[in-house]
Amino acid sequence: MKPRRLVTGFILMEVLAIDGFAAPIRNIILCIGDGMGPEQVKAARYYASTNLFFETFPYQSTMITDSADNPVTDSAASATAMASGQKVNNGVISLSLPGDGSELRTLLEYFTTKDKAAGLVTTTYVTHATPAAFGAHTISRNNLSEIAADYLTQTRPQVLFGGGANGMSPSAAVNAGYTVVTTRDDLFSLNTTDASLVSGQFGTDHLPYEFDGLGDLPRLPEMAVVALDILEEDPDGFFLMVEGGRIDHAGHSNDLSRNIGETLAFSETVELIRNWAGSRSDTLIIVTADHETGGLDVLADNGPGVNPTVTWSTTGHTATPVPVYAWGLNADLATTVADNTEIHQVAISTALVPEQAVDIGQAETGDMQIIWTAAAGDAYRAEYTPTLKPLDWTPLMTVTSTSSRLVIADTNAVPLRFYRLIPLGAESP
Ligand SMILES: [Zn+2]
Repeated sequence: MKPRRLVTGFILMEVLAIDGFAAPIRNIILCIGDGMGPEQVKAARYYASTNLFFETFPYQSTMITDSADNPVTDSAASATAMASGQKVNNGVISLSLPGDGSELRTLLEYFTTKDKAAGLVTTTYVTHATPAAFGAHTISRNNLSEIAADYLTQTRPQVLFGGGANGMSPSAAVNAGYTVVTTRDDLFSLNTTDASLVSGQFGTDHLPYEFDGLGDLPRLPEMAVVALDILEEDPDGFFLMVEGGRIDHAGHSNDLSRNIGETLAFSETVELIRNWAGSRSDTLIIVTADHETGGLDVLADNGPGVNPTVTWSTTGHTATPVPVYAWGLNADLATTVADNTEIHQVAISTALVPEQAVDIGQAETGDMQIIWTAAAGDAYRAEYTPTLKPLDWTPLMTVTSTSSRLVIADTNAVPLRFYRLIPLGAESP
């Protein structure tokens, strides 16, 4: 039995509303340190002489990052894997390649169809590979004008903050209905209650390194805070991707001081996001990296405020597995992550529970039907659970298939829940 998400009706099981469900996920925030492998985290930790903020998150894992055509990924393929759950060739932005070249639905698009707001925030120029994989579809990460056009006309995130130029322009954004801000002062002058589509185009390249000072341009934590101010206005919640994009660049340069500076600013950003979440029980924060850059190896801690002793093995990327940290609703699913495609599953809370003997479907309020293939005459017990961890399977009803399909349609106003069908006579796992 494979649950499929098609809308055709045969047997319609109207699911009864039952009290006592956990809150649905409202806000999903994915923080990506570009090029931030485990040794980059260690180097910054030694310099700070304390754990980075996200190292204290309760659920952690490590994942591999290989792309479809190379054990060493680039940011386009890795971000596509996280955004879409599919491996693609290096350089590809959310298209099925290898494959038929069709557009892969990204997390941003998935959540937008759930009426959530969306934001992309980065310290690179905004059309760079990582944000592009969430908000655009093109055969090459170098198609910057195409990426900008996809942002402005196709995916239209409410928040689009990063370096300017490189395919993006104030006039194009204004023509597409965006408010454009170009400096830190502009950013903080926004009326975030009324702002609906905001394009931050800060400078004409990547943002400067933290180490060198940002001048009149905003820092990553500042962009993230304003993004939250705008996105939290949406009653359906939001998806936000925040990238520390220049950890990678300092890694390519084997520049430890700038590498540490960028990693610390990224950690500070996560801390502000976590503080924003406060005591909310409806928000998931995932922190990870797209790949490691530089082959960094930290040899000795030289104390607070002093660079540790390190070696670098390359000026390129490596296949070193990268860390995953998670906090919030369903964050424990992150402990199951071993491959970068599974970030996608965690973000939409459909990570499969390995011990399950039957497939799990998912439905949300009234907007989705789950279809199982089944032989006519097969009888099943339908069960539901409000969360995957802990599993809390509750029998719902017995149903017999009269055709080749069984459909569950949740037509009541209930939060996110998961369903399974147990063949009658089979042991419940
Ligand atoms: Zn890189």
